[in-house]
Amino acid sequence: MTDYSAHCHCGKTEWTAKLETEQQGHILCHCDTCKYLSGSTFTLNQIIPRSALNITKGESSLGKYTYYGDSGKGVHCYFCPTCTSHVYHHQEVMGPDTIVLRTGLLTNGIKEFEPKAEIFGKARLGWEKEVAQTFETMPPA
Ligand SMILES: [Zn+2]
Ligand SMILES: [Zn+2]
Repeated sequence: MTDYSAHCHCGKTEWTAKLETEQQGHILCHCDTCKYLSGSTFTLNQIIPRSALNITKGESSLGKYTYYGDSGKGVHCYFCPTCTSHVYHHQEVMGPDTIVLRTGLLTNGIKEFEPKAEIFGKARLGWEKEVAQTFETMPPA
């Protein structure tokens, strides 16, 4: 179990995340929603317990954007209201205690973690090379 620190682009939001060794990998998501929300071609994420995330600065002022996923349930995206960096997402379909952390913002994690899997591979762009096991949408439950 290691504590990784992170901050948003402007520095008004800071957080740490405890990750077990088996969680120390990025999941690349190629889905169209990630393209819109990040302005890039994929995002880097990890599914962790909410209790493993500690927002040390700016938690009370986090912005929240909600959209509805394929399940019809809400996905709540929490972001710095000043610079719009996304800290984490909470998908209602995963239950109240599980979140999706944006691992691409972990100061050391982004350099140390290898990609472990790619999801929504069907939306990968033609020039992007496969770097990990790829699932067309989500891995089988
Ligand atoms: Zn910020
Ligand atoms: Zn996605």
